[in-house]
Amino acid sequence: MLKIGCHLSASKGYMHMGKEALSIGGNTFQFFTRNPRGGQAKAVDPEDAAAFLQFAKEHDFAPILAHAPYTLNPAAADLKVREFARMVFLDDLERLEYVPGAYYNFHPGSHVGQGTEEGIRLICELLDEAAERGPHTTILLETMSGKGSEVGGRFEELRAIIDGTKAGPRLGVCLDTCHIYDAGYDIVNDLDGVLAEFDKVIGLDRLKAIHINDTKNPYQSHKDRHEKIGRGYLGLAFFERFINHPLLRELPFYLETPNELEGYAEEIALLKGLYR
Ligand code: FE
Ligand code: FE
Ligand code: ZN
Repeated sequence: MLKIGCHLSASKGYMHMGKEALSIGGNTFQFFTRNPRGGQAKAVDPEDAAAFLQFAKEHDFAPILAHAPYTLNPAAADLKVREFARMVFLDDLERLEYVPGAYYNFHPGSHVGQGTEEGIRLICELLDEAAERGPHTTILLETMSGKGSEVGGRFEELRAIIDGTKAGPRLGVCLDTCHIYDAGYDIVNDLDGVLAEFDKVIGLDRLKAIHINDTKNPYQSHKDRHEKIGRGYLGLAFFERFINHPLLRELPFYLETPNELEGYAEEIALLKGLYR
């Protein structure tokens, strides 16, 4: 069975998201751990989390994906920005202890002119601290489009993060189809080649989740603008190959396309129809 879900609003808790996911044909979902502008996250309701875990089991859910605020930048030059990233990151991991089996996905960060190497060093510093606290949640590094001074647009950069931190053995990767195409990995014409490179540089055993998005921009544009499935430069034929690929078909897929719930329901149905 295709493991698929979409990005949902977390404002009404886990159980609400679980039911919403199910109502649109999904068996997992993604959510932001808090408002992207930061600030206090809503307190976890342990009863809601426990009820959801039971619900997820009954409905055979794939792991859910908690996404850190995209404003979080552990690689920032500004100490205050880094300190904010640190507090949010460690607090999120603590809160995720209520939903064992979830993944925590984050954008590695932007080095803002300090250089990729320094950016990676700072990211590893935060991951080291997270590792020392011993959370159980698997942390996922998201593949980025390489926009601006983003770290993570090349597989080698994710490898360097994995190698540079004590958290390394417990890190995974979330592959975003829009981002890697924008970054310059030609998944349309050479999916096998890109996966072979991923395997060589990072290792396919690290690949835990897929952000399944079309892109508004052509190959190697370094833009990061998501498009509805089949309406962008990746195209429907690509997505059919992609979700059925022997190395990918068992992974959970999360839609982050520009849609409301109804549009997500349509895309989930579309992809299910293409899944063999
Ligand atoms: Fe993301
Ligand atoms: Fe993404
Ligand atoms: Zn994106």
